Amino acid sequence: MPKKAAVRNASAKTTRGPRAPERVGAILKVLDETYPAAECALDHRTPWELLVATILSAQCADVRVNMVTPALFQRFPTPAAMTKATLPELESLIRTTGFYRNKAKSILGAAKKITEDFNGQVPETLAELITIPGAARKTANVVLGVSFGKAEGVVVDTHVFRIARRLELAKADTPEKVEQELMQVLPRDHWIRFSHQIIHHGRKVCIARNPKCRECALEALCRSKDKTWQG
Ligand code: SF4
Repeated sequence: MPKKAAVRNASAKTTRGPRAPERVGAILKVLDETYPAAECALDHRTPWELLVATILSAQCADVRVNMVTPALFQRFPTPAAMTKATLPELESLIRTTGFYRNKAKSILGAAKKITEDFNGQVPETLAELITIPGAARKTANVVLGVSFGKAEGVVVDTHVFRIARRLELAKADTPEKVEQELMQVLPRDHWIRFSHQIIHHGRKVCIARNPKCRECALEALCRSKDKTWQG
């Protein structure tokens, strides 16, 4: 049986809805086969650099963030060094990432918080991370998963939000609620890589407008009303 037909056949056996474990398992298997090496696209060397890069990535492409971070981290390599920055200096270094005034305030606030309350080290728990200026749940989950290998939640960015709903793994209308749905439906050992895989899928194939369903490895498992092609 051709591979795609076999996947569709496995999907057809699913009788308990789109979030049934066998269907979820089939989706995860396709993702593992299609994106075996998916990882964070933000360049970084330390948890601090990843935290800053993730703050900068709000409403900005990762490639653009990667263009500004080398000079930023050369000038201010640690949280303690960053506390010495002035806002205008920070703003000029990150201007091209957009929303640079708010981002500069967040980064400076994060540097001060980490230096004063966490002994200069990025903390390793969700509860502590979300007390840092600019680090909401999504940012905290990125740092925990990528830097510390800890799955305390699922990163839900714009791609994960869109595709989780297209694949009927979630229905909610906010990223926070979609994260809770994904935490219920995904095995915990997939929480970190699922987001990396879906973010790759969202950039290359399941794009927001006119998704490339003809090229999609998940097509046989997808019943989205946004589909542009049916195999
Ligand atoms: S079939 Fe189309 S809509 Fe469904 S996941 Fe693939 S690209 Fe996205």
